[in-house]
Amino acid sequence: MLHERRLPEDLAQDLGRVYSAKMRLLNWLLRSPPQALDDNTQLVQQFGKALGKWLWARIRKPKTRTAFGTAVMALATKARGDPAQAVLVADAITQDAQFHQRWNIAGNELLFPRLHPNWLESVKDVAVPFYDWLGGMGFEPGPFSLTGDRIDRATVMKAFRRHSHDVCGYCDGPLGELGSASEANDCDHFFPKSQWPHLAIHPANLFSACQGCNSRWKLDKVPMGDADAQGLNNTYHPMLRPGASVVVVKATVSAASARQVEIKITDPSLPRRAETLVATLDLESRWTNWVNKKLDPSVSVFVSKSIRDRGLGQQPTPESVRELIEDDIAWKRGRLGKEERCIREIAVLKCMRDDILDEVIADLT
Ligand SMILES: [Zn+2]
Repeated sequence: MLHERRLPEDLAQDLGRVYSAKMRLLNWLLRSPPQALDDNTQLVQQFGKALGKWLWARIRKPKTRTAFGTAVMALATKARGDPAQAVLVADAITQDAQFHQRWNIAGNELLFPRLHPNWLESVKDVAVPFYDWLGGMGFEPGPFSLTGDRIDRATVMKAFRRHSHDVCGYCDGPLGELGSASEANDCDHFFPKSQWPHLAIHPANLFSACQGCNSRWKLDKVPMGDADAQGLNNTYHPMLRPGASVVVVKATVSAASARQVEIKITDPSLPRRAETLVATLDLESRWTNWVNKKLDPSVSVFVSKSIRDRGLGQQPTPESVRELIEDDIAWKRGRLGKEERCIREIAVLKCMRDDILDEVIADLT
């Protein structure tokens, strides 16, 4: 949620096409639920020949019949039982799908499932398999007229990886090794699909995050409360409201030990946003722990590059060390979002320059 991240335009468009097919299916089932599906006629009528047949193969074809087919008919039955309510659900889902265009509008909020919680499971059973297909075998280009070849999770994550400079947009740490087992798990749903299944596959809802952020810290936690107006207003978003340019990160010497620092992350303009970020990802303690691990063997590790390049063999003075630190800060500022851990390192370098310069010099001598 710190760095700006977005999919390349062509891939976002492909994903958008898959997503709109999902939305059309949900809207059809909720607004004009079919009585029964004995063959592919109604699906072809509604979605055209290619997509209609593609859906039919997954809904009712005996050999490949899955829970999805049952879920589609169950949602239609529920909608027929309470048509007025079903239309309100469809309205909520349709409005939610525009969340990316309304993010900065005051009063913007997600309506489903907050307003219609008893529809969550039925909608989830239909909406999530669309994502499962993306994760598993992918979508063939035919039915969706995709511009690319196939579209699956690996393709989407690879595109993010290129654009992300291997840096996690959520925590500023490394994304993990390319091709490693963790890479397959780094697909984060900003709005978790367990609560917002209608937004799985949404091109502004899938992001590449490190395994720690995705699997250990964020999980199904809800970074935006109930996604009501107040929640969304208090939340950064990798595409719509990146936090890196507004958060203030300060490292201060720990009261307990002169060799330990503590990281504090704040947002002076809207404090709640930084609080949400920190609470969701446990960022302050993760960053503090990492910094102190690095500081433990040697304070000078943070200025080691400059020392190697320029300071070696010379007696360090306050002026020369301050200059080395300034150089490192400037270098890391230019690498924000492109090199891992720059934000916390800048904070520590500033702390060294302003608060513990004597300690750094002693360490270098
Ligand atoms: Zn991360």
